[in-house]
Amino acid sequence: MEPERIPLHRPDIDEEDVAAVTAVLRSGWLTTGEQCRAFEAEFAAFVGARHAVAVSSCTAALHLALEATGLGAGGLVLVPTMTFAATAEVVAYFGATPVLVDSERDTLNLDPAHAARLLDALAEERGVPGVAEPRRAHAVLPVHYAGQMADVDAIATLARAHGLRVIEDAAHALPAAARGSDGAWRSVGATAEQTCFSFYANKTITTGEGGMLVSDDEELAARARMMSLHGLSRDAWQRYTAKGSWSYSIVAPGFKYNLTDIAAALGRVQLRKAARLAERRRLLAARYQALLGDVEEVELPRERADRRSSWHLYVMRLRLERLAIDRAGFIEELARAGIGASVHWRPLHLHPYYQARYDLSPGDFPVASAEWERIVSLPLYPSMSPAEQDRVAGVIRTLVARNLRAQVA
Ligand SMILES: *Cc1c(COP(=O)(O)O)cnc(C)c1O
Repeated sequence: MEPERIPLHRPDIDEEDVAAVTAVLRSGWLTTGEQCRAFEAEFAAFVGARHAVAVSSCTAALHLALEATGLGAGGLVLVPTMTFAATAEVVAYFGATPVLVDSERDTLNLDPAHAARLLDALAEERGVPGVAEPRRAHAVLPVHYAGQMADVDAIATLARAHGLRVIEDAAHALPAAARGSDGAWRSVGATAEQTCFSFYANKTITTGEGGMLVSDDEELAARARMMSLHGLSRDAWQRYTAKGSWSYSIVAPGFKYNLTDIAAALGRVQLRKAARLAERRRLLAARYQALLGDVEEVELPRERADRRSSWHLYVMRLRLERLAIDRAGFIEELARAGIGASVHWRPLHLHPYYQARYDLSPGDFPVASAEWERIVSLPLYPSMSPAEQDRVAGVIRTLVARNLRAQVA
């Protein structure tokens, strides 16, 4: 009998999740209401932020966060090239320009040293890749790659020096923490002016589709909340309950980004188990290290001593110079053995739209251009069994052994 396929990801849904959703379906109130308000309060407390706004996706949260900072057409926003489509497309929504930044080799997070060089060049109105008219940048949008937080201290220093707004894309990073240069640990959600989370189906906690914007700044949060529901002066929940009234005014042409109570009820249950799920991921990451740490043809991901990663993704790298198989071939062989693997991600500057629109070349981002050729995301999800993980490790060991490149003497 063929062994069961091991997927890249499997959401963690149990009877408590099902019961929470069912209760909302029976309640008579489906869209934004009490469940959303409770989810927001619980989420804000969990990450240590003052305000939280529940929205329909992380992409929506990023869009609202940028809008709240007053980004306009022609603005420049620093974005890591090693990210998902969402992080840069939201900048383009404004007719603004994403200024792509190369990666740190070890963490694949935004490289603050490269960002500093770009910012200096822009401040002196010198050219940088992708920017036709150099001018001061408006904001920086770091991503916490695979769940390990970016160098938020270095980014804050750059932001102060260059007058940048900071919005963190924490789609991978619930829960995560970073120890600052002052020695204190800070949770994700408490290190930037605004932080955006995703509850997409394959993220560490899920509502199917959903997101959250958190901030300590009351004005930013209030603006984002208003713009998340058509730019109305009060939201539907206030309008349609006994507490509300029929009267509202349109303050600005907003968006339709509110979360449903169906999703929020699921999110509340998921949030309650977030710490336990993260502990499972941490154990599995340590187990991969034990199972594959001695295989010289692969490089395993490392958690920095001053980070607590969410381990959303387990991204290993192939030592291609030692192997007679490339990354695509490697993933194909894994698939043939019934193991789901993926690539996070092809950097933005190597996608046809960004390459052509901003006239970018691989040499502008040497680290991301080289590293992406070797990255493979392995299956990692809280319900993964030791036997499943042993099978993944066994297949990788066999694959590597069968594909050793003949060493030149
Ligand atoms: C998943 C993801 C997003 C988008 O999240 P949605 O909730 O699907 O909009 C944004 N940024 C990164 C880095 C992601 O991985």
